[in-house]
Amino acid sequence: MNYRQVRFFTNFCGVCIHNVSIPVLGDFSYGELILQTKDGKDFGYAQIISEEAWSLISTICEQECGFNPKNINPELSIFQSVAVSCADELNAKQYSKEFPLCPNCGAKLSSYNDDLIDYDADIPVVTWTHFMGLTKDKQKNMVINLWDKEKNQQK
Ligand SMILES: [Zn+2]
Repeated sequence: MNYRQVRFFTNFCGVCIHNVSIPVLGDFSYGELILQTKDGKDFGYAQIISEEAWSLISTICEQECGFNPKNINPELSIFQSVAVSCADELNAKQYSKEFPLCPNCGAKLSSYNDDLIDYDADIPVVTWTHFMGLTKDKQKNMVINLWDKEKNQQK
């Protein structure tokens, strides 16, 4: 597994009343993304701009689902949710479509700050090995199903 160093910042969760650490990317982070497992405990780093799976999923969404990457929302968030759902699990946990969650209680944090540095740490690079190993038909079906599911949820 590959790792990438990211900077964690101190944030406050108003739900469990705890200080928690959330990794935030810097100003030059175009095309990079931090994902978090659904329980909020683990983070993953994705360099989506050079990620083969990310562009493949985008292409399938464009060809099969009418996705236009130039349209910002809600299509872009549907696409991102689809791409995240296709990622390999981390520590047998799926990645959440929401960011950031409280690592302590799992609640969605309404806002987060990057003015109080806590520490630097290595987090795993997100992979799409399972998805990339599927046949072209299975990849297509998986993406179309996820797209429809996401679209219905956002209505
Ligand atoms: Zn909390």
